[in-house]
Amino acid sequence: MDKILNYINGEMLPPKKDQWLDNYNPSKGEVYSLIPDSDETDIEEALTHAELAFETWRLTSLEERFKVLNRIAELIDANNDMLAVAESMDQGKPVWLAKNEMIRSAQNFRFFATAAMQFASESHNMEGHAINYTLRQPIGVVGCISPWNLPLYLFTWKIAPALAAGNCVIAKPSEITPMTAFLLSEICREAGLPKGVLNIVHGLGPKVGNAMVSHPRIKAISFTGGTSTGKHIAAIAAPMFKKLSLELGGKNPNIIFADCDFDKALKTTVQSSFMNQGEICLCGSRILIERSIYNKFRDALIKEVAQMKVGDPLDKETKVGAIVSKMHFEKVLSYIELAKQEGGNILLGGTSLQMQGAHGAGWYIAPTIIENLAYDCRTNTEEIFGPVVTIIPFDTDAEALTIANCTEYGLASSIWTNNLTRAHKVAAGIQSGIVWINCWLLRDLRTPFGGVKQSGVGREGGWEAMKFFTEAKNVCIKL
Ligand code: NAD
Repeated sequence: MDKILNYINGEMLPPKKDQWLDNYNPSKGEVYSLIPDSDETDIEEALTHAELAFETWRLTSLEERFKVLNRIAELIDANNDMLAVAESMDQGKPVWLAKNEMIRSAQNFRFFATAAMQFASESHNMEGHAINYTLRQPIGVVGCISPWNLPLYLFTWKIAPALAAGNCVIAKPSEITPMTAFLLSEICREAGLPKGVLNIVHGLGPKVGNAMVSHPRIKAISFTGGTSTGKHIAAIAAPMFKKLSLELGGKNPNIIFADCDFDKALKTTVQSSFMNQGEICLCGSRILIERSIYNKFRDALIKEVAQMKVGDPLDKETKVGAIVSKMHFEKVLSYIELAKQEGGNILLGGTSLQMQGAHGAGWYIAPTIIENLAYDCRTNTEEIFGPVVTIIPFDTDAEALTIANCTEYGLASSIWTNNLTRAHKVAAGIQSGIVWINCWLLRDLRTPFGGVKQSGVGREGGWEAMKFFTEAKNVCIKL
């Protein structure tokens, strides 16, 4: 059985206690590799090396940092096919989607490689009395913890700015999808990233992840994952005054007004509902439809979604792959049962799917559309994070906003209308960190990315990320 290894001080190492976890291929429901079940002793070792490496890395010229991060980007691009197949097998996502995510993973490194060269700080002149300038210095050794839904894409989205800003990093990918982080270790070695600058430690969240969060010498934590994990991490890190960036769950509304471009709204809603099996924090899982087009939109949506091919992620025709784990598969199915108990009418799907042959034991759920639920019931307010959407009619802009804002989450939203005034008003009134108007998942990496309410604290992206991974120090010189 293949073994994934930790990447510590530039070496590929087994966990110190030689304990291992099973890694599943969700499309077949079978174990296909082993991953380190690391603990605090592995973190201690990684930290010793990272602290030593920091003394050199923080003084490495911006151009040198740029060069090595850019080489990593180029190697990710050069290995796109191999990485995409590995991601697809590990996560269950269709391989065509994994290829796009590998492109984005390379972009993350390229974007922040250039940011390292462009980042600058402010100066404030006190009219002949004094000059202040701001030093933005790297923090030291920082921790990056990422989830299973967009494994390499979100892992690199954290690591790249942390390194660009001059920090050394201990990073932990999800134990459910460790493979591409492991392959990234090899890429970093090939790119010539100095030893100890990046350390990748695999294992369970409550064990090795917890060891990272509670270690006093890991000075900042950038976390993406579930809201309940985020709460736990905040409770440990806050008394230590660690810098924290938390990107958490979502229950995003997709508001379709009658005056929208119907075909574009429909096509994009199919994607925003079911891309990556609905396992994207930005997926629109509540589709709010203005009543005058409710029936037309509902029927067209059912027709489109019914044609989506569910199955083997490595089959190029597949639109919806496997659910990432048995535990998550059961969680999603339990929410479908809850929706029925809450009076929901299953318009499409609503069941697991049994594949043939080698994929017979894989975890698949039919794309599911549900209507007739109260807008504030549990199904409509809790995160399901699977191929399940609800549709809800509304009559006025104010009612659409009430429904959109009725959850504890506030990550993303999308609004479909050709009325400019309405678009601006609804965008201003909606409680989410990201609003897309007549589009979805259109990303400019310079923009602030993050959520409000229980969807998180802090922002990633562009200068926001560079600022998070540095400490600002004001230096005041009296003239
Ligand atoms: P999760 O919270 O279970 O795990 C995320 C990561 O945290 C994993 O690496 C896990 O091992 C680690 N972890 C778990 N317990 C820990 C602990 N006690 N201490 C330290 N680390 C710990 O989340 P998940 O199930 O992997 O991911 C799905 C969730 O992530 C969904 O809620 C989704 O909305 C959210 N998400 C949010 C964003 C965003 O940008 N806001 C992006 C993607 C996913």
